Amino acid sequence: MTETAEVVIIGSGIVGSSVAYHLAEQGCTNVLVIEREAHQGKGSTGKSMGGVRAQFSTPVNILMSRYSIDFFARFDEVVGHPADYRAHGYLFCATTERHLQYLKSNRERQLALGVRNVELVSREDIARFVPQLRVDDILGGTFCPTDGFVDPHSVMMGFMLNARERGVRLWLDTQVTGIQVEPDRRVSGVMTSRGLVSTRIVVNAAGAWAAEVARFAGSELPVEPLRRQLVPTEPFDGLPQRFPMVIDMSTGFHFRREGKGILLAWNDPEETPGFKTEFDPGFVEKILTHAADRVPRLAEAEVNPRRAWAGLYEMTPDHHAVIGPAPDVAGLYFVNGFSGHGVMHSPASGRITSDLILHGHSDLVDATQLNVERFKSGKLLEETAVL
Ligand SMILES: Cc1cc2nc3c(=O)[nH]c(=O)nc-3n(C[C@H](O)[C@H](O)[C@H](O)COP(=O)(O)OP(=O)(O)OC[C@H]3O[C@@H](n4cnc5c(N)ncnc54)[C@H](O)[C@@H]3O)c2cc1C
Repeated sequence: MTETAEVVIIGSGIVGSSVAYHLAEQGCTNVLVIEREAHQGKGSTGKSMGGVRAQFSTPVNILMSRYSIDFFARFDEVVGHPADYRAHGYLFCATTERHLQYLKSNRERQLALGVRNVELVSREDIARFVPQLRVDDILGGTFCPTDGFVDPHSVMMGFMLNARERGVRLWLDTQVTGIQVEPDRRVSGVMTSRGLVSTRIVVNAAGAWAAEVARFAGSELPVEPLRRQLVPTEPFDGLPQRFPMVIDMSTGFHFRREGKGILLAWNDPEETPGFKTEFDPGFVEKILTHAADRVPRLAEAEVNPRRAWAGLYEMTPDHHAVIGPAPDVAGLYFVNGFSGHGVMHSPASGRITSDLILHGHSDLVDATQLNVERFKSGKLLEETAVL
């Protein structure tokens, strides 16, 4: 007998799980989530740094962060599972007048959109956060105390467990191999390694693999995988036990405490698109050069390259998510292309997607600006505060 569901979600990462939760929370529980891996979190979600921040440059990203951070602060109570939200803040450090002006104008926009606690900080303030930082060339920066970190795996599991408690089904170890589209361009089902599932609504939450899933329905989606590498140090007590995520805007190098060690991140401009998930040992020297330049004591930190890892960002041409209906296939919805922000924006993206499916619009943001059509019409959203 053919399986049926009101909504099929392809992908059970943090985004698919949030969509499932938000649908169920609004009473839509005849939902089937399909995941090809034997466990959740094997995609980008399990590789993430877990950073959450409201310090963005575009209104839509700021509003999505505002909703999401407020949600993370109440997650344990509302969802009934822990998010491990730690409000340790994000500290952006500018070394040029241009970067400082950029932070100031972003802050004006953030304040105007209701993120009221972003502070301008001086070089001296910055040195107080992390006394070991080299600050001689730092002109100032911004700090938002409610930015911080969550545990991405825990958030994903919380969303999915709650959704399942309400009746949502999850199939693991099941590959989606096609999307059935009728001659009138309406979705009628999903082909899987377990057989056909009949449905009128399909949500593409396939992360870095989203373009392939869109092509199953003959639809174009400009989402490209881009490798991202993280390097943890061995236990290191040369920095405070607690400090914010620190971003050196001169290089893009950023770091935060992770347990007893420090987690180091940097966007290598030489990286090229592709499904590369092997960690490149040559990256260690590159990132340690930036680390030691900004925090000379980090030159003493030990790194075991075997504990470092790589995952995939899901990039769009304007570094903004694509959320909304596919223009050419009725019943197909995209929630893709988070360009490195899918964990922090998972509450908002689940809410917006479920609103669009159930009500045709969302009062959280004007979702039409996130439509995939913007790449054809040229109405791009360009986010420049990408880490
Ligand atoms: C190193 C690194 C650091 C990051 N740091 C941050 C950060 O600090 N903050 C932040 O907000 N974001 C960060 N991100 C980005 C974030 O991890 C992603 O945006 C987010 O996890 C995307 O979630 P997702 O559910 O869309 O994708 P995924 O977690 O990749 O889930 C997609 C799922 O779809 C499944 N799938 C794909 N195709 C099929 C198919 N045909 N059939 C069945 N299943 C399928 C996959 O197996 C996968 O489980 C980081 C990413 C990386 C790699």
